Amino acid sequence: MPIRKITEYPEKVLGEVGRPVTKFDQELANLCSDMFETMYDAEGVGLAAPQIGLNLRLFVMDCEDIKLIAANPEIIATEGEQSSQEGCLSVGKVPAVVVRPQKARLRAQNEKGEWFEQDAEGYAARAFMHETDHCNGTLFIDHLPKMRRDMLVKKFKKEKTWK
Ligand SMILES: [Zn+2]
Repeated sequence: MPIRKITEYPEKVLGEVGRPVTKFDQELANLCSDMFETMYDAEGVGLAAPQIGLNLRLFVMDCEDIKLIAANPEIIATEGEQSSQEGCLSVGKVPAVVVRPQKARLRAQNEKGEWFEQDAEGYAARAFMHETDHCNGTLFIDHLPKMRRDMLVKKFKKEKTWK
């Protein structure tokens, strides 16, 4: 299975609301396997379909002790607050502190189309929210105040030209 190219900010697909996953077939299973491989290769803990150029509500994740495939994900409950560093493979891993809920409950479909719910706390809850955001065309930098967002984008673009 091939490793896919990771799309980077400001590619358009990263800002689009994803199309729902409707076919739970071998093609989807293969796609998820590519996504896991691409994520591990990039040393990420989560990867959403828009990050490999696909306008689709789908992500894979392997964070702390939670490994899953989430199609058509929704965050259905949150609790508390946490404030810690967050980065994104599509924004060159340039990190920033983002305030998010401490706990989150994810509702999604697995690769067979079966609905499930999963609770997470801390880092894994953050990953749930970060990846679900990707499926809605939102990046973590969109949660930052405008000045901090602009600074981060500038830093990212500068790093990109060094490559
Ligand atoms: Zn991301």
